[in-house]
Amino acid sequence: TKFSDLALDPRVLQAVAETGYETPTPIQAQAIPHALQGKDVLGIAQTGTGKTASFSLPMITLLGQGRARARMPRSLVLCPTRELAAQVAENFDTYAKHTKLTKALLIGGVSFGEQDKLIDRGVDVLIATPGRLLDHVERGKLLLTGVQIMVVDEADRMLDMGFIPDIERIFKLTPFTRQTLFYSATMAPEIERLTNTFLTGAVKIEV
Ligand code: AMP
Repeated sequence: TKFSDLALDPRVLQAVAETGYETPTPIQAQAIPHALQGKDVLGIAQTGTGKTASFSLPMITLLGQGRARARMPRSLVLCPTRELAAQVAENFDTYAKHTKLTKALLIGGVSFGEQDKLIDRGVDVLIATPGRLLDHVERGKLLLTGVQIMVVDEADRMLDMGFIPDIERIFKLTPFTRQTLFYSATMAPEIERLTNTFLTGAVKIEV
C-alpha cells in the first residue's frame, strides 16, 4: 500500500510526503480506509507502530470536508498523560499544516486562561487529558455535543491511571452518532466492556 492509495485529502498527503514518510505502517494501511468510511476502529497497537498518524490522517481528511473552525469542537482526542497529549498535538500540527483546521491542547498543570481563549475562539479539534477536559465542561466553558469523531489513545494506560469512569462520562457527553477510534495495547476486561458499550460495529485491527 502507498499513502496515495488511501483516499486521504491531498493536503494531508502533501504534509505526509514533507514529513518524509514513504509507506504506511501496518496499522495505518489497515485502519485508515475503514476510518475514512466513517467506521469505528478498535486498534490493538503499541506505541511506535504509527498509531498516531493512523487516526490523525483520516480525522484531518474527514474534518477538512467541513468548515474549518466551527463554533463547537468537531473532534476530540483523549490521551492518558500531558506528555502524550502534547506529542499528539505536535503531530496534528504537522499533518494539518496545509489545512485551516485549528486545535486546542487541554492539559493540566497550566492555567485555564489560554485554554479558555482558544475554546472561545472556536477550534475544530480538542486534544486533552480526561481530567482537564472534564474541568472545562464542569466550568461551563465547553460542550461536546458537536463531536463527530472521538479518539481514545492508549486506553490500557487510562485503565492503569484510574481514568475509565472519566472516559465513560466523556463518551456520554458526546453524540451517539459519533465515530470512535479506540486504541489500546492490551484488552483487559474493563477495556473490553468499554468498547462493547461505546463502539458500534467496530473493525478490530491487531498489529
Ligand atoms: P507512534 O506509534 O504514533 O507514536 O509513531 C511512532 C513514530 O513513527 C513517530 O516518530 C512517527 O513520526 C513515525 N511514523 C509514523 N508513521 C510513519 C510512517 N508511515 N513512516 C515512517 N515513520 C512513521
